[in-house]
Amino acid sequence: MKLSEMHKQKKSVLSFEIFPPKKDHELKNIDKTLEILCELNPDFISVTFGAGGSANHNQTIELAKKIKETYHVEPVVHLTCLCYDRGQIDAFSKELEAEGIQNILALRGDRNPDIPEKDDFAHASDLIQYLKTKGDFCIAAACYPECHPESDSRVDEMRHLKGKVDAGASLLLSQLFFDNNYFYRFVEDCRIAGIDVPVTPGIMPVINASQIKRMVTLCGASLPPRFEKIIHRFETNKEALFDAGMSYALSQVIDLLANDVDGVHLYTMNNPAVARKICEGIRNII
Ligand code: FAD
Repeated sequence: MKLSEMHKQKKSVLSFEIFPPKKDHELKNIDKTLEILCELNPDFISVTFGAGGSANHNQTIELAKKIKETYHVEPVVHLTCLCYDRGQIDAFSKELEAEGIQNILALRGDRNPDIPEKDDFAHASDLIQYLKTKGDFCIAAACYPECHPESDSRVDEMRHLKGKVDAGASLLLSQLFFDNNYFYRFVEDCRIAGIDVPVTPGIMPVINASQIKRMVTLCGASLPPRFEKIIHRFETNKEALFDAGMSYALSQVIDLLANDVDGVHLYTMNNPAVARKICEGIRNII
C-alpha cells in the first residue's frame, strides 16, 4: 500500500527505520531482528541507502523485498541521488517497480569527500521530479525541524521543502530531535508555507553515550537541559542509560501522540528491544 493511502486510513502511522548491516554476522541476525520488529505491527519499515556504491543498493532492495515477501509489512526504500546519474536511477526505479515496491524516500544524500558526486541531481527535489516520471511511486522526502546543517536560513529551508512537495513528495519524515517544541513549531511553519502533506516526527531512543555524541555531530539536534542531565548522570552505567534513554524517548512519543501528530517514525538502529519497549509503552495509546 502507498504511504499516502495509509495516512488517509489511519490517524497516526507507526513506522520503523532499519539499515542494511555491514558485517556478515549482523546480516545473519537480520531475520531475527525483522521477525521481532514485524511482530510489533508497524505500518511500514524503511530501509536506509548509502550515499554511493553499488553493493549497498543491492542490500537495501534485498532487505525491502524480505520485509514485504517474508514478513508482509510494507517496505519503504530510501534512495539517494547526489552520487548517481540518470541511468543509475533508471535502473534502481525499474528494479523497485519489478519487485512491487511502491514507496520511496527520495533523498539527496550527505556529501562524502571519498565518493565523487555526479551532475544529474543536485537536490532531492530533482530526484523526486525525476522519479515521478519513472513509475507510479509514492514519494516521501526528508525534513529537518531544527533546519538542515547546510541551510543558511529557515525561510530558504521552507522554500526548498515546499519545492520538494510541489515536485511530488506526498509526505515528510523528520530528522531526529530531542525537544518536541521544535517539531510543533516546524509543523506550524510548514502549514503557513502551504505544505499540507503529513509530517511525521522521527524519534531515536538514545541508549548509549557514544551514539548521542555521534548523532548530535551528524545532524545538529539540540539537547534540552533535562535530557543532557540524564545522559551526563548515567553515561557510565549501560543499563541505567538504557532505562533513562528509553524513558525519555517514550515520553517524547507520548507527548507527540497527545498532540495528534501524523505518525511516529522510530529510528531503531536495528535494535528490536528499543522498538519493543516503545511499542509496549504506547499499546493503548496508538
Ligand atoms: P535536500 O532536500 O536536497 O536538501 C539539502 C540542502 O539543500 C538543504 O540545506 C536544503 O535547504 C538545500 N536545498 C534543497 N533544495 C534546494 C534548491 N533547489 N536550491 C538550493 N538549495 C536547496 N542519508 C543517506 O545517505 N541515506 C539514507 O538512507 C538517509 N535516510 C534519511 C532519512 C531521513 C528521515 C532523514 C531526515 C535523512 C536521511 N538521510 C539519509 C540524510 C540526508 O541524505 C541528508 O540529511 C542530506 O544532507 C540531505 O538530504 P535531503 O534529501 O534532505 O536534501
